[in-house]
Amino acid sequence: MLEIYYRYKISIKDKYPIQKQLERMATLVQRLRKCADNEDNGFDDETRNLLATRIVAYYKRYLNEDWEPLGVEVGFSIILYEDKYNIFIYEGRPDRILRIKDPFNPGRRVICVSDDKTRGRNDDLIDYNNQVNGYLVAAKTNWFVYNYMGKQKDTQKAFDRQLVHRSDIALEKWKQTTIKWYFKILADRNREEFLESMQCPGEYSACEFLSLCSSKDDREYNAVMNAKFKKRPEARKSW
Ligand code: SF4
Repeated sequence: MLEIYYRYKISIKDKYPIQKQLERMATLVQRLRKCADNEDNGFDDETRNLLATRIVAYYKRYLNEDWEPLGVEVGFSIILYEDKYNIFIYEGRPDRILRIKDPFNPGRRVICVSDDKTRGRNDDLIDYNNQVNGYLVAAKTNWFVYNYMGKQKDTQKAFDRQLVHRSDIALEKWKQTTIKWYFKILADRNREEFLESMQCPGEYSACEFLSLCSSKDDREYNAVMNAKFKKRPEARKSW
């Protein structure tokens, strides 16, 4: 729903004066609410109610946000490293690219990457995060915002934003470390030996290989592999 919301915001931004934009956004939010309320959409009652109330609350909470959305679900593929034998490509798809007031110099505006995150409590995610650093290197900027959404009834607590700044030095360090990881994965591939990291994501973004990695023996592993996974028929395409 936020994808539709910000795509619409971009589409009307240059066409209407600000008051008209706000009116049109309010109409869109009402339409999204009806869509979330629709009994045919496959969600149970509780989820429908939650979605409907949350989109309205999100709109009210951030009615005057200074975010200027530039792109939504923007896929990218960048070359991190290249030599005679290897090309290492890093890919991703941030939820949105924005222009915001430069927190160090409010007279200027800077590019910022933003991703929506679900959180159950009020714990912040850390800045030293693979995805944050990778997205910033790709977007050539130092600013990132975690856009949190929680299940708390109090919508003041349910919505929160955490601004992250990563310096050029930190981003270069991430890049060099990631290149070393690519070389390590390449070596593992050549040896056909893949160690499980066991650094699996949490309940909201479970890794799709969890059922394989958590199988207790080769027999279970092979059964899961045959039942749940098949080789993609077409080659992987970059953005
Ligand atoms: S479940 Fe995913 S993250 Fe966890 S060890 Fe397996 S592949 Fe790695």
